[in-house]
Amino acid sequence: MQQYTDKEVFNQRFSNINEEMEVKKRETKYDAWLEDYETEIENTKSTIVDLGCGLGNNTLYLIKKGKQVLACDYSEVAIQTIQKEIPQASTKLFDMSQGFPIEDCFTDIVIADLCIHYFTEEITRKIISEIKRILKPNGVFLFRVNSVNDSHFLSNNSKIAEKFVWQPEWKKSKRIFDEESIRDFFSGWKIEKIKEEKMLRYEEEKIIWNCAVRKGEQSFMEKIIILGTGGGLTLNCYNTCFLLGNDEQYLLVDTGAGAQILNQIRDANVELNKIHDIFISHKHVDHLLGIFPLLRVICQDIGKNKHDGKVNIYCAREVREIIESFILETFHGKHIDIYHENVIFHDIQDGQEYSIIDYNVKILDLYPKEDIVQYGFQTTLKNGKNFAFLGDIPCSEKNFDKIRKADWVCHEVFCREAENEIFQPHKINHSTVKDVTENMQKLGVKNLILWHTKDNCIQQRKELYTQEAKQYFSGNVYVPNDLEVIEL
Ligand SMILES: [Zn+2]
Ligand SMILES: [Zn+2]
Repeated sequence: MQQYTDKEVFNQRFSNINEEMEVKKRETKYDAWLEDYETEIENTKSTIVDLGCGLGNNTLYLIKKGKQVLACDYSEVAIQTIQKEIPQASTKLFDMSQGFPIEDCFTDIVIADLCIHYFTEEITRKIISEIKRILKPNGVFLFRVNSVNDSHFLSNNSKIAEKFVWQPEWKKSKRIFDEESIRDFFSGWKIEKIKEEKMLRYEEEKIIWNCAVRKGEQSFMEKIIILGTGGGLTLNCYNTCFLLGNDEQYLLVDTGAGAQILNQIRDANVELNKIHDIFISHKHVDHLLGIFPLLRVICQDIGKNKHDGKVNIYCAREVREIIESFILETFHGKHIDIYHENVIFHDIQDGQEYSIIDYNVKILDLYPKEDIVQYGFQTTLKNGKNFAFLGDIPCSEKNFDKIRKADWVCHEVFCREAENEIFQPHKINHSTVKDVTENMQKLGVKNLILWHTKDNCIQQRKELYTQEAKQYFSGNVYVPNDLEVIEL
């Protein structure tokens, strides 16, 4: 017996279809299953993603409606056929089980017609989370899958305990769904339609589910993405900085030293075009130097229309003066012009409020003891929780009332109490885990993110710091690693 890899099964199937017949029959092959969502389809301005497009029944229907379509399949034959017969559609060849090469929040509408049922439960869940990722908030996923009541499956398997059924003629297993399993796979989505229907596209009648599920507001996840967790002289982790935002846009807080910030942002899978706001707490190199390579690349991207332009930088005047003088001395003329047109500085001061991404951000003077200025900020998240960033120095008593009972506080913590003698953090106006957690306990803080640490015990750092923190603090403690994501 001939052995097939999965892909060959599809390539062979699509090649076997007589092309002329296929084109002639195609008009009738689209069977109006999308019609409940016709208005939404008509109104969308985004490119509709057709997963497992096959020979393009649904793609053609959408193209005829004047829509932009990204037709996706795993089979080269399918993709080549679309490219030849429906050149108005764009195409993408990929294996859904390996993740989608499509950016976050790409589209309002994803469709999948009898194609997400070839996978194990684990892979199916992974595919569904990828679909959610590429949908915009409130976007809809329209799909059809096989029903457990399809006679085809019933005749082969009188007892359907197993929902992943071997299909000899496809040389592949197919998943069959009941309403409960659909609701389970899409828990966390808003389920708008689960309708069992007869489908007459193929010679034999099929029983399928015609479904619509919506990515709700709850998937509008607020989070911070930790780009770096270390302080000035760390080499085993990157200097302290993070992104605060919601998948669509981010506030970058501090620009850890050096060009590695670009790698960190890339490795966090965040496009630079999602960053239009940057807050810089103070002028120390470990918080500042990354701004130069970052602005250099953003200016270049603006020139190539890869970044929409306009970058707001919120920092003290003394920080602005350093940034401006360095850029004017070192950037090419072309990029200096783009910089002047697009980079807007805001000289921050205690108590000022700014509307940054969707947040009302209030600036906090952190009262550094050295002869520099340093600012943090407070904001209320969309989920109602309040969030405070306190730069890289111990929280001043002058700010205690402001952060009392805060839901989230980001605080520096240079080393553990046991290492106090070795690193002497107090001499450089930094803290031990004990110092910080005792104070935060008194203030009734609920969640504490600790960073800006030494990197001498990087492997055990999370465990050791958390252990010490738990001795003094009863809220939740986070000692993140670089590139960790914390849902707020
Ligand atoms: Zn620092
Ligand atoms: Zn500092």
